[in-house]
This record gives sequence, C-alpha cells and structure tokens, in this order.
Amino acid sequence: MQASTITARQWRMRYRVYLRPLGCFLSVGAATLFFGSLGNGLIIWVANGILLAYLLLAPRRFWPAYIIAAVVAHLIASALLHVSWQVNLLYTMLDTIEALIAAALLRRRSTDLPNFTSPFYLFRFTVCAIVAAPAISAAVEGLADLFIFHQAFLPSFQHLFRTDALGICVTTPACVALFRTRLRKLLSDYSNWLRLLPICALCVAVFLQNELPAPILLFPVLLLVLLRMGLGWASLLTLFVTTVGAWFTSRDIGPYANTPVSNALGPDIRLQLFVTSLMVTIYSVSVVIENLRNTEKRLLYIANLHTLVAENSRDVIILEDSQGNRTLVSSPDRFWSGWSHEDIQAMGSLERIHPDDRLRVSSAISDLRAGADGTLIEYRVGGRDGAFTWVEANLRTVRDPISRKPTRLLSNIRDISERKYAEQQLEDAFHAVEALAVTDALTGLANRRRFDQYLSDEWRRALRERTPLAMVLIDADLFKAYNDTYGHHQGDVCLQAIAGALRKAILRSSDLGSRIGGEEFAILLPNTYAEGARQLAYRVCEEVRNCAIEHSGSPHGIVTVSAGYSAMVPLPGQAASLLFDTADQAMYAAKHSGRNCVHPIDVPDAINEDADADTDAFPSINI
Ligand code: GH3
Ligand code: MG
Ligand code: MG
Repeated sequence: MQASTITARQWRMRYRVYLRPLGCFLSVGAATLFFGSLGNGLIIWVANGILLAYLLLAPRRFWPAYIIAAVVAHLIASALLHVSWQVNLLYTMLDTIEALIAAALLRRRSTDLPNFTSPFYLFRFTVCAIVAAPAISAAVEGLADLFIFHQAFLPSFQHLFRTDALGICVTTPACVALFRTRLRKLLSDYSNWLRLLPICALCVAVFLQNELPAPILLFPVLLLVLLRMGLGWASLLTLFVTTVGAWFTSRDIGPYANTPVSNALGPDIRLQLFVTSLMVTIYSVSVVIENLRNTEKRLLYIANLHTLVAENSRDVIILEDSQGNRTLVSSPDRFWSGWSHEDIQAMGSLERIHPDDRLRVSSAISDLRAGADGTLIEYRVGGRDGAFTWVEANLRTVRDPISRKPTRLLSNIRDISERKYAEQQLEDAFHAVEALAVTDALTGLANRRRFDQYLSDEWRRALRERTPLAMVLIDADLFKAYNDTYGHHQGDVCLQAIAGALRKAILRSSDLGSRIGGEEFAILLPNTYAEGARQLAYRVCEEVRNCAIEHSGSPHGIVTVSAGYSAMVPLPGQAASLLFDTADQAMYAAKHSGRNCVHPIDVPDAINEDADADTDAFPSINI
C-alpha cells in the first residue's frame, strides 16, 4: 500500500509538467462551455480567472504551456457552442491577452507569489487584474465590434469589462487557494464538503425565490466560512453563488430576474453588484483577520521566546504587584529546594528570608515602592529543609507606562552560594595572613607591629576621651646567661613560658600583651591608671616566678623578670612614645634596683587615680 502511494506520488511528480497544463485545459474548457452556454444572461466570465491563477503560481518559463492549453480549450469549447470561427478567434485572443496582461503586471519577478490577505497585494490585484487587464481587453473588443460588426462601442465594452472583471475578482483567489491546497487532500477532506453542503443548499434556495432581501443572508454565512475555513473556501463558495445566481438569473428565475427592472440597472448588473459586494466584504475581512493572525503569531513567538529565556536563565524571575502577590515565578526549583511552584507563588516577599537579612530586604522593597528605580541586594533564603542559600536579587520597579507610577516589582534572583563560599574562604585566608602579620611566631603574642599600631590607636582614643593609658614593660633577667647555660633552643622555650605567664596575668580583654623584642615584653592597658598597671606588673612577675624555670645563673635560681610601668592621660601635642619611654625608664630602674621587681616611673609629681588630679592642669601627667 505504502509502496503504491509512493509510486503514485512519484508518477505525479514526474508528469506534473504535463498534468498541470492538462488541468488548465480541462478547467478552462469546462468554464468556457458552461458560462458560454448561458448566452446573453452572462454575468461572469470565469475562464480568464482560472488561467490567471495558473500563471500566478507556475514558474514563468512554463507560461507558454498553460497559454497553449487555455487557447486550445477555449477554441474547442467555443466551437462546441457553435460560435463562428471569427468570433471564436477574437474572443480566444482577447481572453488570453487579458490573463497575460494581468499576470505580467502582477508577477514581475518569478518570486512574486499571490497573497490575497496582504492589503498591498490586494491593491495591486485590483488595479492590474480587476481593472486594467479587463479594461484593455474590453476596449479592443469594443473597437472590433465598432469597426468589424458595426455595433456601438460602449455597450459591448461595458458588458465585457463587467463580466471579465467579476470573473477574475471571484475566480482567481478561489483557484489560487485550491491549487495551493493539494487537490487530493481537499477532495478527501469530507468534513469541509459536508459543512458546505447546507450552505450550497441555502444558495440555491436564495436564488429559487423572488424576495430581494434573501441574498443578504449569504453575507453572514460567507463570513462564517471565511473565519472557520479560510479565504480559499470563501472565494470558492462565492464562485458557487455566482454560478448558481447566473444560471437562475439567465433563466429569469430568482430575486434579481424578477425585480422590477429600472432603466439603469438590469438583472445582470444587479447580480454583478451583489457578487462584487460579497467579494469586497470577504477581501476586507480577510485582511483584518490576517492582521490579527499575524499579531497573534508575533505574540506567541514573543511568549515562547520569553518562556525559553526564563526557563534557561540561571536567574529565578519573580514579578509581584504592589500588594506583594506574585503573578509570575519562573523555575523556582533552581534554589528554593523543596518548595513547589505554588508554594513560592503563595509566599510573601519577606517570607523564608533569613531573619538577619529581613530588615535590609524590607527596607529595599519599601524604597522601591516609594519610587526608587532599582537596587541590588544579597540575602539568604530558606528551603523547605531549613537550609539557607545565599542569593543576589536585582530588584527593579515596573512602572505604569502612562502615569509612571510604580505598579509591580520585578526580581531577578541568582544563587550566589558558590561565590559567597569563595568570598568566605578568601576572607578567612586574609584574616589568617593578617593575624600572621601581627603575631609573634615564637610566643603567639602580638608582635611589635601590632603593639605599635595598638599604642597609636589607644593613644588617640585616650586623648579624645580624656582617659588614662598605661603600659607595663617586662624584660627577662640575665637571659644571656640563661642562653649560654641552657642553649638557644631552651631559651626559646623559656620565652614561651614567660609569654604564658603574661597571658595568665592579663585579665582584661582590652589589655594587649606583646613581645616587642628578644626577651622584652609589653602590656598596653587602655583606660587604666598607674595602680592598675602596677598590680598587673606584679602579677606578671609572680606568674613568671610561679613557673619556677631553673636558672643557675640567677641569684634566685629560677627565671625572673623585671617590670617597669607608666600611666598617663595624653594631652594634645604629646607623642605616644612618651608613654613608652617613661615605661622603659621605669623598667631600667627596676633592673638597677636588683631585678625581679617592679618599678614605677620615677617622676616626682606622679599621681594615681586616688589623688583625683585635674589632668588638664599638667602637660604630661604620670598617674
Ligand atoms: P638583663 O637582666 O640586664 O636584661 O640581662 P640580659 O642578659 O637579659 O640582657 P642582654 O640584653 O644582655 O641579653 C639579652 C639576651 O636575650 C641576648 C640574647 O641571647 C637573648 N635573646 C634575645 N632574643 C632571643 C630569642 O629570640 N631567643 C633566645 N633564646 N634568646 C634571645
Ligand atoms: Mg633586654
Ligand atoms: Mg634581659
């Protein structure tokens, strides 16, 4: 079965060069025979319209074949109708020239194919095929009638022009639609034919009665056919209406034949006017429909494009109105793991946002609703499992195109958890490097750099806030001897133990213990008077002694430290080094006092917090 279908198609394809002119021959012949037989009651000449449809669709190099087929068909059909050979030749020539003129004007390039739903093509078709070509043909015939048959020019010109113009107007679009739809498919589509049957019956009924308003019934019916089945079927039905109308009117039957005839318009002209108005209606409506279809196609294309972009975007796109109702949510499964599309759609703008981020997001949304254009914001959003994902939302205000008032909020939300993780890694690494840069490698205490920075910061703060700042300097006693006795490595271990003692002694988190030199340590004590520094210095010495690290070179037999301290409320114009220098002097004083002891700065007017001194009264006050 399949094989035979393919063979039949192949056969048709191979012989279509002959089959199509044969179809042209048969259809032109049949149309000439049928409409020619109507004699004087002729209101429409269909054969030219058929030939024109063939010429508009066939490649131009095949035109001679169609013209020969049409000429032969015309000659034979007219001969069968007993038309004299002179008249036969004249009409055949005129009809052929008419179709050729129309085709040549409409199809200047081979690719210029007919499109009856385009307003521009319809205009060209009207001017070239419906007006110009029939007018030229009718004028030649009128002149022939005048000079050869000695008849009046105008009546024969008018008659031929009307019948030919109407024939092309009705037949060509119908035939083009028919030829474009595969004829076999058309014939096998019984449903279309069955639908048309009652309509055809209505047409016959309309022309079988004598009431003039009845043909108006055909307008809505034809429009219905146009809307449901297209222009091809509607023009085919118009052709049928014309044929039936011509048939009955030529036999003095029907509303147009029996209407009292006025002087100006005979039955044929009335019928022609009716058919013309049918065709004009169909053409106009089909242009409007085509425009609507094109708009629909364009909208569908845009909608599909939008879906494609939204579905394949890495972003989740959310559109919500001013009340926070979400009207569009694309691909929420991207990172709202566990929530269904409906869940996300029903969610409020701030729902599932991490509590720490909610305030930021809500104030950003408020700004947008108040009129801001857009903002970029990062926050965490929770999945059904409770896990939070970092996202970046590009929030945009959508405005009413006319009033420019904010109407909706468009959010493009992107999963940035990977980026956030990388950022965190980088930050951790940075902190680690930063910590290394300010930490003493041997003891883990702050290094000299950190100490200097802290001293400078706290000095400025104390100056600003008029608060005291104290410093304790600690130096291991006779450490050179320790190294000489126990070795350098053991010396390092001992330094670590002293650092541990320092840590133990420091009680406030704001006090910074640091190793500022080989076996020298310092403690900076913000907001501390001399008494506080003294107590801490004593605790350090005590803690070092408690370590009981053997030191044979020391008179005490164990490792000890000497400490000096200083405290002051900084005054404008003083440098932070003043505090260091005074503490250093105190520390050396402790060394000279026999080591393993604490010494304050030896300044005569030194005071402490108990003295309740007016700090502003002195340029540099040791307290
Ligand atoms: P004084 O009681 O007067 O401070 O005597 P001292 O021997 O401690 O003072 P001096 O400045 O003469 O010696 C300091 C010694 O500290 C010299 C050096 O051998 C030792 N030292 C400095 N830095 C380090 C270090 O990082 N590790 C070790 N093991 N020893 C160090
Ligand atoms: Mg020293
Ligand atoms: Mg020392």
